Amino acid sequence: PLRPAGTGPASALPSGVLTEGEAKRLLAAYGLPVTREAAAATADQAVAAARTIGFPVVLKGVSRAVVHKSDLGLVRLNLRDEDALRTAFADIIAALDHAAPGAAEGCVVQEMARGEAELFLGATHDPQFGPMVIVGAGGILVEFLQDVRMAPAPVSAATARALIEGLRVAPLLHGLRGRPPADIDAAAAALERLSWLAADLGPRLVELDVNPLILRAAGQGAIAVDARATLK
Ligand code: ADP
Ligand code: MG
Repeated sequence: PLRPAGTGPASALPSGVLTEGEAKRLLAAYGLPVTREAAAATADQAVAAARTIGFPVVLKGVSRAVVHKSDLGLVRLNLRDEDALRTAFADIIAALDHAAPGAAEGCVVQEMARGEAELFLGATHDPQFGPMVIVGAGGILVEFLQDVRMAPAPVSAATARALIEGLRVAPLLHGLRGRPPADIDAAAAALERLSWLAADLGPRLVELDVNPLILRAAGQGAIAVDARATLK
């Protein structure tokens, strides 16, 4: 490492559960691509943010107490105009009051990302094996398929790529039935960078999940649209 331990971007981070936005800023500090986004405490702020980001947008409710936002009605995708955004804002504030009473932190407006495939990227610190990275099929498939590969961090881009190619879902990433192939190089670069983060944080990293990383067509990159982290 080029820096003494404990002086990297993570050294100023608080302990505990990070919000999605905080986890994404940590990822961005390591050069992972994340959604453009802005916090919104009111519907007017959400509209102003959406105009800056550009419609269509995604609106999410923010609470550190929530693990699976979409299960609780806290994610609204592809909002095309101001009316749709204002309606979604009211819906999400109501859902937040219900899902996380006393632990709501407003909403976040994000760019609406599109791609060919989704992967799950994870990082943790294993008491026995040290920093580890994990990659698997994204979205809800991660729990369902149990299709994951892991390796000690840091990993090279070549190792990251081999982990991805070893997944059972890998053929889907190469493009099926006329679909364009997904940007596996971009996913491997993201996993490599996540592994640097894991190596830097060491035992402070309880877990960090990117779920999903959306892969665009080959050459078009990848983007983390959801992230969650717990530090100690
Ligand atoms: P959860 O807490 O339920 O995992 P997510 O933020 O991952 O919530 O949102 C649920 C799903 O919505 C994601 O798996 C992804 O398919 C989609 N999604 C979330 N954010 C975006 C975004 N900014 N652009 C496009 N799709 C998104
Ligand atoms: Mg998610």
